[in-house]
Amino acid sequence: MKVVVLGAGESGIGAALLAKQLGYEIFVSDKGSIKEKYKQELVENNIPFEEGNHSEKKIFEASVIIKSPGIPDKIELIRRLNEKGLEVISEIEFASRFTSAKIIGITGSNGKTTTTNLTYHLLKTGGLNVAMGGNVGYSFARLLTESQCDLYVLELSSFQLDGIKNFKPDIAMLLNITPDHLDRYDYQLENYIASKFRIIMNQGIKDTFIYNADNGNMQSFLKNQNLIMQTVPVKEQTSAKPLIKVRQIDFDLSGSALKGRHNRFNAICAIEAALLCGVNESDIRKGLQSFANDAHRLETIAVKQGVEYINDSKATNVDAVYYALDAMTKPIVWIVGGTDKGNDYGSLIKLVEEKVKAIICLGADNSKILEVFSPLIKNIEETRSAEEAVKRAGIYAEKGDVVILSPACASFDLFKNYKDRGDQFRTAVLNIDD
Ligand code: ADP
Repeated sequence: MKVVVLGAGESGIGAALLAKQLGYEIFVSDKGSIKEKYKQELVENNIPFEEGNHSEKKIFEASVIIKSPGIPDKIELIRRLNEKGLEVISEIEFASRFTSAKIIGITGSNGKTTTTNLTYHLLKTGGLNVAMGGNVGYSFARLLTESQCDLYVLELSSFQLDGIKNFKPDIAMLLNITPDHLDRYDYQLENYIASKFRIIMNQGIKDTFIYNADNGNMQSFLKNQNLIMQTVPVKEQTSAKPLIKVRQIDFDLSGSALKGRHNRFNAICAIEAALLCGVNESDIRKGLQSFANDAHRLETIAVKQGVEYINDSKATNVDAVYYALDAMTKPIVWIVGGTDKGNDYGSLIKLVEEKVKAIICLGADNSKILEVFSPLIKNIEETRSAEEAVKRAGIYAEKGDVVILSPACASFDLFKNYKDRGDQFRTAVLNIDD
């Protein structure tokens, strides 16, 4: 079998390494440039590759083409490969053909990484032989080249789901759907919703679907579905208390890293999965308390002069910011802005009126934020760097307040990515005098 991998990022390299290990003839092609660390891996493993070009002759000779999630289906090369009837799949689909391990697949517009990390952590605390990856950390294919586990917890993006055919998680989780990435879905929300629901398209009666019972976009899709798998609807959390109930068992999240209503919801989903996998209550409790989330997600950086500074740089859409502001119990100085993705700030207005005392815009173009919020908030100003934003925020914040970077926007106008934005915020905060 001849395998061609299009796109040499983490998923492409993982797929190439797995294909090589399985003894397939393999060629990797990337139209852009390939990161040095990945090039090295290809060389070390004797995998032929090209960059800056797609050699069509070689690509059209393949029996299976593994396409990176970053490459849209619409581009001409992919359209022609499809027209010719060649099999174009995602790395997730490819990898899943070579394992019989149990799979927990997690998708949603927000909360994927947190819930994937937490589910993995609970299973690990329960002593299970489990690995985690997919859209976070290592690709699924790479995980399979390293060792065989009994269980894989996979974060799945809609782009990865677009390239599946037979992939089937034993446990699927769909956390929520709010508009995102619509440029890849012909600006049709229905197309994005359908893409997310591909996570259950191959599930059978023995599989389980854990899903958000209150999400409007999901409800409208589910109305027309005849679900054959076991279903676990999970309610959005309304109480402000850090207590949750799962299958009549009480869990207390106070003192844990899982702050806010959204994280209580994520925790219920993860606990449901852990119980299904046989983890006992006591290990789940231990896991909830010892869980540490990844950086840039409601991450407290420091308390300086009585003001708490929180980095939520990963909040790149309005829904994530909604839950961040909702989770705050102190007066807020809110740092917001970046590359607008067609944001509608309407859902934030009530929370901003109730809780926000000053707004510091951090973006190249802040016009929309100024337009919506300046009639509501007197203290609103523009900055162009994380350092300046933190300095200006400090002017408004008093002892007992919180300064939160929760941008609602992508970061590419002023930063390399959301991590760079969060890291620069952290540095600026740590530089404040104690
Ligand atoms: P993803 O991997 O889907 O981007 P993350 O776990 O990295 O999700 O979180 C991204 C942002 O969304 C963070 O700001 C986080 O606080 C927020 N978030 C986490 N879970 C949820 C949820 N269930 N609903 C809404 N926002 C959430």
